[in-house]
Amino acid sequence: MSRQGAYSPLPPWPRTDYCGALRAKDAGREVGLWGWVAARRDHGGLIFVDLRDREGVVQVVFNPAHGAQAHGVARQVRAEFFLAVAGTVVGRSAQTVNRELATGEVEVMGAKAQVLNESLAPPFALDDEEGASEELRLRMRFLDLRRPRMLQNLRRRHLAVRAARAHLDAEGFVEVETPILWRATPEGARDYLVPSRVNPGKFYALPQSPQLLKQLLMVAGLDRYYQIARCFRDEDLRANRQPEFSQVDIEMTCPRPEEVMAVGEGMIAAMFAQAAGITVERPFARLSFEEAMERYGSDKPDLRFGLELCRLNEAFAETAFRVFAAALARGESIYGLRLEGAHRIVRRDLDDLVQAVRALAPAGAGAYRPDLAWVKVEQAAWHGPIANHLGPAERSRLCQAAALVPGDTLLLTAGPRQKAREVLGEVRVRLAQKLGLDRAATPRFVWVTDFPLMFYSEEERRLVSYHHPFTAAHPDDLPKLERAPLEVRALSYDLVVNGQEVGGGSVRIHDPTLQLKVLELLGIPQERAREKFGFLLEALSYGAPPHGGIAFGVDRIVMLLCGSESLRDVIAFPKTQRAVDLMSGAPSAVDSEQLKDLSIRIVP
Ligand code: ASP
Repeated sequence: MSRQGAYSPLPPWPRTDYCGALRAKDAGREVGLWGWVAARRDHGGLIFVDLRDREGVVQVVFNPAHGAQAHGVARQVRAEFFLAVAGTVVGRSAQTVNRELATGEVEVMGAKAQVLNESLAPPFALDDEEGASEELRLRMRFLDLRRPRMLQNLRRRHLAVRAARAHLDAEGFVEVETPILWRATPEGARDYLVPSRVNPGKFYALPQSPQLLKQLLMVAGLDRYYQIARCFRDEDLRANRQPEFSQVDIEMTCPRPEEVMAVGEGMIAAMFAQAAGITVERPFARLSFEEAMERYGSDKPDLRFGLELCRLNEAFAETAFRVFAAALARGESIYGLRLEGAHRIVRRDLDDLVQAVRALAPAGAGAYRPDLAWVKVEQAAWHGPIANHLGPAERSRLCQAAALVPGDTLLLTAGPRQKAREVLGEVRVRLAQKLGLDRAATPRFVWVTDFPLMFYSEEERRLVSYHHPFTAAHPDDLPKLERAPLEVRALSYDLVVNGQEVGGGSVRIHDPTLQLKVLELLGIPQERAREKFGFLLEALSYGAPPHGGIAFGVDRIVMLLCGSESLRDVIAFPKTQRAVDLMSGAPSAVDSEQLKDLSIRIVP
């Protein structure tokens, strides 16, 4: 046994330093260290142990001449044993300095050592990035998190949240905790329900967001609120989503959208700067929803690359190409995307794109089937499946409208305006992936504003909020609310970075009558609205000030500033895509007594 006597829960001597913090200036000091054995090299007489703690690794040398007991311990340790070591820091000679290691100018001569706990052989190497499957990593998360990169991610997360708090404190915001056991707020997902034992047959819903509670805090007079809020949404399994996530949740009294955006921008910049040393370019770009759709075919445009769309209805006004002529006759739109000749793309890639577009079946598109056409522009003959349909006059109009030069490829799609833009927006993203244009690590932030207040859902056969039902209409569009609700813009804003949404919010409705009217348009009759949201309507009736706010996804932001690809890399104990915690086995069956207490019976 390398351990002496029984395990003691107390360390045999104090820690004076973190292993990874030792530097040349520490030479000559007596230190006490605790750490895990990252590696051990036995050179006969001398044993070298790389001792690791959260700050990094230092080399400890065990020489029988300097401490026979310590040397004896070192002979028996293996990977991931947890040790206490006492010894002297010495500078390394010029030839033995290790430039790869932050502590590489020194080593510690081990005088005493004690094993505080042994370890089974770890199932994957903790210094190796690739080695283990994600399933194994998640099952043994406590070991996975011991890896330096994961510890660094967690610490960056801490710094980012600290920066957010400090920024909001300085702006006069007050942090308030809101309940987790509450009732449903419609944010567009299913609720996680918790049965109430003392109210049989009744359920709490875990908050999808603290939306209504933060509005009530404005009615209460808090003026400026924030919270690092845990939110729960039972959504279908999609990549890079977690059933529970954290957001920086913000609400302000009487703000203009610009003021909310300014607070958010300052906070995001502080998070990137303080957690990752990244200076983000400010002010962030701004696009209205309409402009984002028209130029990028997306309400989450990735601005790291151009590839902008253009509407080509006029250029095709007299076209002999039957497909486009028929689309125009139906009042549809034709959109094009110019791919510069410098971007190399081969016929096979274009064919793949065409197949991919045909496979897109946009929800609620009715009879519309998306398709993609392309032509290669050349000095003399144009190539491509539709080249023969394009006459000389049409070609020159196209060159004008889409700024085409020989060598370019023009990709085209026709359809109902919004659908055609979405389809080409998808093509734009796929092209960028193909060409590697989406790999730039620099974050490109953009605010997308003035979303539609509602859209028509074919699935649900009713109007649905673009954000949520508490969003205020743009005052200029208010007269259209009942006559043409689909034309009403919201006082809303989303923050998008590199094609991903990282925040979103709005000015809210603060008038109870208007709130009732909006709920009614969304298919919630007054009676039901009062039943579900009576407390909100009541609160709005007692001098509720105008208010608005925003929420930012902490996990996503931290993922970006860590340069990680997966949310699971920045959450200590994440769930899989099937909403399972592989380590603890949650969710799990419960015993029948518990179910009985809750008046619940499982239907097989
Ligand atoms: N409650 C919204 C959300 O969670 C954010 C907001 O409108 O402030 O997405």
